Amino acid sequence: MNLESSLAEEAAVLAQRLSELDRLQHPVWVFDLDNSRILWSNESSLHVWQADTKEELLGRKMGTDMSVSVSKRLNQYKTDFTRDENARFTEIWTMYPNGEPVTLNVVFSAIRLGPDRLCMFCEGVTETTAGAETLRSCEALLHTSVHISLYSSAGDPLYRNPSSRSVVPSADNKLQDHFVSKEILRQLQDPKEDEIQAITSVNTVNGVVWHDITARRCRDVVSGEAAWLISEVDVSKLKATEEHAQFLAEHDTLTKLPNRNYVSIYFQKQIDKVLKDNKSGGLIFIDLDNFKNVNDSLGHDAGDQLLVEVADRLRSLAKSQYSIARLGGDEFLLLINPIESDQHFESIMQQIINVVSMPITLEGREVQVTPSIGVAMYPNNGTQILELMRHADLAMYHAKETGKNDFAYFSKELSDAAESKMTLVSELRSALKDDQFETYFQPRVSVSSNNIVGAEALVRWNHPAKGQVQPGDFITACEESGLIAELGKVVFRDAVVAQRTWAEQGHDIRISVNLSPLQFNEESLVDELLDIVKEHRGNPKKIELEITESVLLGHDRSTIDKLHRLVACGFEIAIDDFGTGYSNLAYLHRYPISCLKIDRSFINSMDSATPIIDLIVAMAKLFDLYVVAEGVETPEQLEMLNNFYCQEYQGYLFHKPTDFDSFTALLSEHYRIAA
Ligand code: C2E
Ligand code: CA
Ligand code: CA
Repeated sequence: MNLESSLAEEAAVLAQRLSELDRLQHPVWVFDLDNSRILWSNESSLHVWQADTKEELLGRKMGTDMSVSVSKRLNQYKTDFTRDENARFTEIWTMYPNGEPVTLNVVFSAIRLGPDRLCMFCEGVTETTAGAETLRSCEALLHTSVHISLYSSAGDPLYRNPSSRSVVPSADNKLQDHFVSKEILRQLQDPKEDEIQAITSVNTVNGVVWHDITARRCRDVVSGEAAWLISEVDVSKLKATEEHAQFLAEHDTLTKLPNRNYVSIYFQKQIDKVLKDNKSGGLIFIDLDNFKNVNDSLGHDAGDQLLVEVADRLRSLAKSQYSIARLGGDEFLLLINPIESDQHFESIMQQIINVVSMPITLEGREVQVTPSIGVAMYPNNGTQILELMRHADLAMYHAKETGKNDFAYFSKELSDAAESKMTLVSELRSALKDDQFETYFQPRVSVSSNNIVGAEALVRWNHPAKGQVQPGDFITACEESGLIAELGKVVFRDAVVAQRTWAEQGHDIRISVNLSPLQFNEESLVDELLDIVKEHRGNPKKIELEITESVLLGHDRSTIDKLHRLVACGFEIAIDDFGTGYSNLAYLHRYPISCLKIDRSFINSMDSATPIIDLIVAMAKLFDLYVVAEGVETPEQLEMLNNFYCQEYQGYLFHKPTDFDSFTALLSEHYRIAA
């Protein structure tokens, strides 16, 4: 049977069933929600619908030009009636027969036509006398996507607009059923609260979603009783975006592990909880050894891959028992709480070492990295996450210094040492500002004539409280803090001034200056040295730069270029402490070097070191370098040097390093113009 004939059949049944109602003065009609058609109407509604005959009205296809919001609303009624066939609603309706608005108070309810057929029975009660404002606001209420509802103060529903009805799981849902969080209910019961605003989770037909709600205390216009007017907007999408943003802010994008932000909030919470239970825990700081090598040799993609793999291994080790995070770079954190026993804790660390050092295949190559691990325990080593991180970090550095691929516990001594280093660095910084450094000079003497032929500039620190401090006590701190670059320039300037002054006095000797690797690697080194030489009118040909073997270790192009540029400026290059470093004699010819300084340790034990000295000397001869022996303390040592190919020496035997004025006096005693 086609639709039209089945509708006609239903209309005929209805006409019979409702014939008594034809006499009513109120307009009454039956609306077919499935087909948007009027199935039956009494005489009075013809006027409302501005129809000439019932046939014409029943023939109208109202769905054709229906707005989306009206059809949504009609769907909602259908759902309402399906849920509760006895539901009755009263709403102010404005209809537009032939485009003209007609407004009525309509009471509508369900009428069943068959097992699967629920239609809507509509009674136009009165033509409303409400003003334009009211009419419009009623319409707005019916059409808005904001959920608006009115509840009695006991929480019973009094009214819901269609939007609100579309989401409540059942029509008799009470306010108590609505909110997931009991906190909102508590606030609603508080007589001091008149308006509550919150973003909270609520129960809906679609499950639990997030609503932005405003609840306002008011009166029900019908009963006059206290009530809550609640308006709600679904903000789940916004909330999801926000949660995603928060995830991004608190996680590392590469490994998806929690990051530093996360650690400072959530690790602290976990620590607090453990401490509250009077238990203890441990924070483990993991740093990969030689990660930089992987990055440098295999590239950053391989480096990333390695980090992801290590993160995955640590994650599977941690499972749900420990918290894990990546601090950035190759640093990871593990929070173990509470600790069951010392053995348990140490076995975890052994496992970390094992999983991290398992080989990884990167770019077709098998690579192995090992971890250095530092541990801080709480509450013993602190209770605040930042403090614990600092302490675990210190312990990790200690593990690295003492051989890597191992773990170390934080101790008071470690923090004392770190603290005194920090104090030292800040003292050094002000010492530079206050000119507390003085350059000393140690004579370099000709082995054959015992005349001074040069001097090495060596820095001293005139500490206001401690007196004179030797470089051994502060050069390392200067290197680690980067201060060495600035200090090196101060010494270099003093050396240039000394060179010029003594030359002007007729002592044209060569001054050598130590260059730390860090200073050597400075981009602007060559220009800066030249500027100083120019400013103080020194002679670069009489200035020698002492570098260590470690500078040459990389064999890279830029090192060779830089050395050539320095030599082109006139400077000579010496290799300091020769023999103690990497002693790769083969590279000597690749660099523009003119001098080797044999380290003091060989001179000290000259008997046993003879073969090495022989080798060094043979090399020096081959490449036409001159050789300086360092640390000559006894006449016997000097005597032996006579048997070697060694042109110069330096040592306490001749003179200790001394200040500028004493050296000037020494020069006039010992310097002879070479014949
Ligand atoms: P170095 O460059 O090997 O300097 C030689 C060191 O041996 C100097 O120690 C010197 O006083 C000492 N010495 C010389 N003759 C003898 C001797 O016969 N017996 C003994 N036992 N020692 C002798 P100093 O002045 O304490 O300097 C230590 C180190 O500090 C230097 O070793 C150098 O590496 C570094 N240093 C000193 N001044 C500077 C500087 O201005 N810049 C840089 N980068 N490093 C510097
Ligand atoms: Ca030196
Ligand atoms: Ca030396």
